[in-house]
Amino acid sequence: MPDAEVAIIGAGLSGIGMGIALRRAGIDDFVILERAADIGGTWRDNVYPGIGVDVPAQAYQFSYALNPRWTRVFAPGAEVKDYIDGLADRYGIRRHIRLDTEVTERAWDEDARLWRLRTPTGEVTARFVVSAIGVFVDPKPVDIAGIGDFAGTVLRSSGWDHGYDLAGKRVAVIGTGASAVQLVPEIAPRTARLDVYQRTPIWVGPKPDAPIPRPVRWLFRRTPRVQNAVRRIATRGVEMVLIDLVVGHGKRPYIAHGGARLARSLWYRTQVKDPATRRKLTPRYGLGCKRPSVSNTYLRTFNRPNVTLVTDAIDRVTATGVRTADGRERAVDAIVLATGFRLASDPENFRRTPVRGRGGFDLATFYTENRLASYEGISIPGLPNHFMMFGPYGWVGGTWHQLVETTSAHVVRVIQEARRRGATAVEIRPEPTERWTGRMRDRLAGSLWTTNGCATANSYYFDHHGDTPYLRPTSAAQAARAARVFPLDDYAYTTSETRPA
Ligand SMILES: Cc1cc2nc3c(=O)[nH]c(=O)nc-3n(C[C@H](O)[C@H](O)[C@H](O)COP(=O)(O)OP(=O)(O)OC[C@H]3O[C@@H](n4cnc5c(N)ncnc54)[C@H](O)[C@@H]3O)c2cc1C
Repeated sequence: MPDAEVAIIGAGLSGIGMGIALRRAGIDDFVILERAADIGGTWRDNVYPGIGVDVPAQAYQFSYALNPRWTRVFAPGAEVKDYIDGLADRYGIRRHIRLDTEVTERAWDEDARLWRLRTPTGEVTARFVVSAIGVFVDPKPVDIAGIGDFAGTVLRSSGWDHGYDLAGKRVAVIGTGASAVQLVPEIAPRTARLDVYQRTPIWVGPKPDAPIPRPVRWLFRRTPRVQNAVRRIATRGVEMVLIDLVVGHGKRPYIAHGGARLARSLWYRTQVKDPATRRKLTPRYGLGCKRPSVSNTYLRTFNRPNVTLVTDAIDRVTATGVRTADGRERAVDAIVLATGFRLASDPENFRRTPVRGRGGFDLATFYTENRLASYEGISIPGLPNHFMMFGPYGWVGGTWHQLVETTSAHVVRVIQEARRRGATAVEIRPEPTERWTGRMRDRLAGSLWTTNGCATANSYYFDHHGDTPYLRPTSAAQAARAARVFPLDDYAYTTSETRPA
């Protein structure tokens, strides 16, 4: 018998949301293996100055666990971490969690019909595995010549060192993605000089942020139905901005084009005084090619006399500063790396922590050699009893919570069906996988990503095959319905007696 019926890998929002779904379905024999010393994933690791959600907090919560205490429309990161801690307590998840337990290898044992998970403290076996390792698995390794020679301090947006005081220091920030958009305006006033190194600009829109007044919070506490209505509206709003814009671009190209024109002519013009700097901060690719961000302070920061936008390519880091391709060196005391993450489908993740399925299937090799494919963004043939919270074409709707609720409903249905049939292994069949992935690719064929001048965006939406396998190009409502009604026979259910030869 395995140690647990289900092993969930990762104790972020996905892993905890999956655990809650299992408990609610009466499945209590599960363990959550977490490599870090605390739960919370993204919101544990990213504590840099200015961290917060860049979608409204009312949308960034589970439909069954509304938080009436969000203090702002766009909540600070610490409140999200508190929310996750509260979920683990309220739903009795903590006793299932094993901290400091990294899964360094997953191997399917066909004879024993279970997964063998290697961890530094020994093997854990489980009948089913749910991978909840997140979308941004690890910070990208830094690919800048000379970074190891720098004699000053190197800070990272992920795992920020609050012990280092930036006051009066000369600082370089490398990278201008969503994290930099949040941290640059926070640290700029404290530094003596701030150089921001930009390779590709990001679309930054206005942020409709405000404190949530106490009477409104009181109303939410007293009348959850009201808060739920607000959640639905906010979630749909995010979905419209992030998903409808992309998938519906063929039919309504004027939304992205109009939005970009408006941003250029009104917003950027009022935010950045110097026309040359403004030009450099304005993307040349279309709105939506890369995940846009929101901020009322980022663009304005470049009006400050102590802030310089550097767009010359970095040649190398020296012991004392950063040298650009034009030969100029800018001396700094500290370098902040905000250079992004390795995504969940990057084969490198699974070279480091291999996933070996049935009949020699290896996930790293599969992702390297094949265009990404899955069934409902959750299952892959060759990996029996294995589910991914976020697999190829899996990003449902506007916020992560919709994805977690939809995926966990799918996983629970399959596990319950396997139990009902007395099956010890369940594996998605190749044909439904091809059919479903084909449908998703067809839907994306006319999307904004193929038509809106995205080639220069340097966007993580495009994978190493040139595909855009992150987004599920259906509405969240369609995805939730699919989780309830997909044909259970799309999976093959076997026992050791009936397993395929
Ligand atoms: C700075 C930042 C800001 C963001 N802001 C937003 C936002 O505003 N709105 C939004 O929708 N999304 C946002 N996101 C995306 C965010 O990652 C998701 O919304 C969500 O938090 C992901 O939760 P998760 O549990 O799937 O992954 P994570 O939060 O990444 O958690 C994964 C967990 O798995 C653990 N783990 C990984 N590998 C192993 C292993 N081999 N063994 C054991 N444990 C392992 C990790 O330590 C981690 O605790 C943001 C991401 C970042 C990085």
